[in-house]
Amino acid sequence: MKPLYRERLKRLRSSMAGKKLGAFVVTDLKNIRYLTGFTGSSAYAIVSSDKAFFLTDPRYTAQSREEVKGFRVKIFKKALDTVAEILGGIKAAAVGFESGSVSFDNYSKLAKALKGKAKLKASAGLVSALRSVKDQFEIEKITEAAKLLDKGFIHALKVVKPGAIEREAAFSIETFWKKRGAEGLAFDTIIASGERGALPHGKASEKRIKKGELVVIDMGALLNGYNSDETRTFVTGRPTAKQKEVYQVVRDAQAAAIESIRPGVKASAVDLAARSVIGKAGYGKYFGHGTGHGVGLDIHESPGLGPTSIDVLEEGMVITVEPGIYIPGWGGVRIEDMALVTKNGAKLLTSTNRDLVIL
Ligand code: ZN
Ligand code: ZN
Repeated sequence: MKPLYRERLKRLRSSMAGKKLGAFVVTDLKNIRYLTGFTGSSAYAIVSSDKAFFLTDPRYTAQSREEVKGFRVKIFKKALDTVAEILGGIKAAAVGFESGSVSFDNYSKLAKALKGKAKLKASAGLVSALRSVKDQFEIEKITEAAKLLDKGFIHALKVVKPGAIEREAAFSIETFWKKRGAEGLAFDTIIASGERGALPHGKASEKRIKKGELVVIDMGALLNGYNSDETRTFVTGRPTAKQKEVYQVVRDAQAAAIESIRPGVKASAVDLAARSVIGKAGYGKYFGHGTGHGVGLDIHESPGLGPTSIDVLEEGMVITVEPGIYIPGWGGVRIEDMALVTKNGAKLLTSTNRDLVIL
């Protein structure tokens, strides 16, 4: 087993011990990838204090042999039968499972198979808590994805212009990434021009971009399994006074939030830093979403940076900072960057120009 996975397994076992779990069944595929290195689409992992099993179906026999080291690999015909059999052998009193990714049917079958032998304990968030703090390997991968994303914005400057159709511009950027090694997109590319910019998640449409519009571009590349996420708002032609004003408020809000990032700081305090700048400028009711989120194997993961978040920032977390103002019938502005939490504060992983760029 590579030291990387040994370390992750060690951290999982220590979380399991804290929750008094004798065994843990991992069903979320990203969590399985994180713990085992497996990149396929059908798998279970079972971890106890001294054993680790990896289960997959016959399609993945060769792939699992290549990717998964240090786990006992079992090829199943009926997944839950094999899971129950392994758990029977482990003889743990309490078995944790990922309640967020197990169907009610599978839970019921497993509970029946384990009746009288072990108690199933819903343990959501165990692995995602580990994943929220990135190791060096992940920081490198995420940084590479963020760099590719930045290059996409340079390309965007060429294809997002008055007269262009949002969806065609998006396709051009997506092709640019794929040619440079991206295996996919972190999410559907958002290019929202003019009034559509008031939709925080306005996917690129058939709309033609006009002169004098703000254009919100939120996009991300998926590279080596890791996501990236960045937003810029451009303007086509000379900005109006109001476009400039709103842009500056969002920019100041983002700067205040970035400035507040430090290990030990509440995620909700970072949100508040951005929210109070926007509120003081009189646009509070136009900022409806949270200020950011963790990014890694999933595009949205722990921690959450919203007003009600109970997360606390730790060194090694990778988060987005993305305040915005969305005015119905007028348009919107969002500026988003990815930041690594270091002991000295935020280190930005995305670096596209944050001035209001005129296209
Ligand atoms: Zn985004
Ligand atoms: Zn985001």
